[in-house]
Amino acid sequence: MDGMEFTVKAFHDFLAEGRIMGSRCRGCGAVSLPPRPVCPECGGRDLEWTELEGKGIIRAYTVIHVPLTRMKDRCPYACGVVELDAGPRISGLILGVSEGEKIEVGSRVEAEFVREGARTVLCFRPV
Ligand SMILES: [Zn+2]
Repeated sequence: MDGMEFTVKAFHDFLAEGRIMGSRCRGCGAVSLPPRPVCPECGGRDLEWTELEGKGIIRAYTVIHVPLTRMKDRCPYACGVVELDAGPRISGLILGVSEGEKIEVGSRVEAEFVREGARTVLCFRPV
């Protein structure tokens, strides 16, 4: 994957393979998720791909009762910000809320790769 551009598109292509890939700055070590072509910490452009494990904790969330049309069979659901164990934060849907899973800030979650038509969406489920 050397030479692959650090873009949101590449990020989604990796999601389709069930992988969470971010960019890591060789200068300062900061990890960006989704990947960015320029390090937000130091402005460096010497980056490498790094695979992140899909485990972390909920840092913030909102339960949504009025769904997007495509999500109505999963209602209610939650949108959250998850801090991965490796450090970076990423937003995503929190699954399982409609089945009565209790979530709160600090709950542990694991990544789940949900196919929606042609694309794969990064979601999380309480563990
Ligand atoms: Zn940097």
